[in-house]
Amino acid sequence: MKDLSKRIELYCPICGCSDFSSLDIETKELLNADDSSKVQCANCKKIFKISEILDSNQEIINSNIEKIQNEALLEIEKQLKRTFNKR
Ligand SMILES: [Zn+2]
Repeated sequence: MKDLSKRIELYCPICGCSDFSSLDIETKELLNADDSSKVQCANCKKIFKISEILDSNQEIINSNIEKIQNEALLEIEKQLKRTFNKR
């Protein structure tokens, strides 16, 4: 099964820029990240807690999680079909 972890693009709540220093981390890690971890917007240089970024990007995160889950389901379906076609 291919790797289904995808990076989610998150946006600065102040300026809308999606570049953060030290925010180049995988979805899984991000969602499990310590709430008090800090990242800095590359554009407006404001420093946020991970929890603030997650709060303001909740919708994006949810829709991405949905997408990832759908892809996982499709992948499983493909594998099942392959298994059945072998016989
Ligand atoms: Zn910014």
